[in-house]
Amino acid sequence: GEIQQTPHIVVLPTPGMGHLIPLIEFAKRLVLNHDFSVTFFIPTENNSPSKAQKTVLNSLPKAIDYIFLPPVNFDDLNEDVKIETRISLTVTRSLSSLRDAFTKMVANMRVVALVVDLFGTDAFDIAKEFQVPSYIFYPTTAMVLSLFLELPKLDEKYSCEYKDLPELVKLPGCVPIHGSDFLTPAQDRKNEAYKWLLHHCKRYKLAEGILVNSFIDLEPTAFKALSEETPDRPPVYPVGPLIQTSVTNGDADGSKCLEWLDDQPHGSVLFISFGSGGTLSTEQLTELALGLEMSEQRFLWVVRSPSDKTTAASYFSSQSAKDPFDFLPKGFIERTKGLGLVVTSWAPQIQILNHGSTGGFLTHCGWNSTLESIVHGVPLIAWPLFAEQKMNAVMLDNMKVALRAKFDENGIVRREEITKVVKGLMEGEEGKKLRNKMKDLKCAAAAVLSQDGSSTESLCEVALKWKSKP
Ligand code: UDP
Repeated sequence: GEIQQTPHIVVLPTPGMGHLIPLIEFAKRLVLNHDFSVTFFIPTENNSPSKAQKTVLNSLPKAIDYIFLPPVNFDDLNEDVKIETRISLTVTRSLSSLRDAFTKMVANMRVVALVVDLFGTDAFDIAKEFQVPSYIFYPTTAMVLSLFLELPKLDEKYSCEYKDLPELVKLPGCVPIHGSDFLTPAQDRKNEAYKWLLHHCKRYKLAEGILVNSFIDLEPTAFKALSEETPDRPPVYPVGPLIQTSVTNGDADGSKCLEWLDDQPHGSVLFISFGSGGTLSTEQLTELALGLEMSEQRFLWVVRSPSDKTTAASYFSSQSAKDPFDFLPKGFIERTKGLGLVVTSWAPQIQILNHGSTGGFLTHCGWNSTLESIVHGVPLIAWPLFAEQKMNAVMLDNMKVALRAKFDENGIVRREEITKVVKGLMEGEEGKKLRNKMKDLKCAAAAVLSQDGSSTESLCEVALKWKSKP
């Protein structure tokens, strides 16, 4: 039959809402502003799609299609296998079904590019079989990308764990960091997760380009360093901030949040969420509850059941296995009734951050949450848990848009510390400064995405390249 002439993009999101959400926004731009059509090939595990995945996929515009690749089998994996290993294996074990999907796709469509996210580089090999160029959509900062690009060199240079390095690590154009702040899979070099990380990092140079969900004004020096030409890496395009735009409430908890916010004073509420996968230990959950109560500030808290094994217990499902209310301190809900609202399901985070009553965000520093806060001008309390979140916290602290919650020697943020940072952000002088700085970033974020803004222009450049592919 006839091949459709609309240039078509195949997108492969690796597991995790934090990967899927920005890729969808990216796809929407391609469709709405550049006349592409897009298909998501979604690798799955047995338990997916999750409810959260379905919610965002159900709101896609017509020119964006998706198919789930057949679920991969993980019966052979140990229970303690790390997230990055699991993510990478989801892709490698989907390669033959990806090949089948590609074969069908190229029979009808003019496929001009494959776009994967940070852990999807194994899909490059399939795209290559079909002469389709591969790109990376990098869903976090230029700073973390710089680490990814340096990692093969660091791996050769040092044999110790990075956390034992005596001096700070200087990535080009970035605030110097401790090895202990490197992303989680770089904290244990003997673990499979590190080998996968390194494997992907080494393959970044095989991409034709890397699109980063950040923007020049946010990380000017890091992007400057990444713009220098070198054979070690493909061109880097800052295209962010691309944040969730679809309205995904509709469930009872979601509307309850917004109605409750309507009744609160302007800028008075601290929103608390640890992303789609973040979980606290039982002890930490108690400290947070009691610290909030002592602060006497208003709060809207998305609670997930605690996990004492990992800080990413709900990463693949985005929901709690048990009822989180059972884990809150006795009487907490009653005592904080006038001041706080606790919800347990997927919250309409964009509408919450956009609400006039929201005055601060206690976040795990997941990059999507961070960008969403920047776009809405809401200052932060940084409470990093896993992945690259510590690196994000260092950067946000350095930019003076976040207060950092300090962990004690046992890795717990104590209730007194929580009270201190919450009050500091919501009513202190420092909080005011952070709020003003955040407003500047909000303006910059809007400007880079305006008609001739820098992120708009870099995306145009990539789109033109794709359209000119024969
Ligand atoms: N999110 C949401 N409701 C929730 C939890 C998360 O809408 O209850 C969205 C949030 O707005 C963001 C994404 O899920 O777009 C989470 O991504 P992020 O990078 O912040 O963290 P991750 O979930 O990857 O740790």
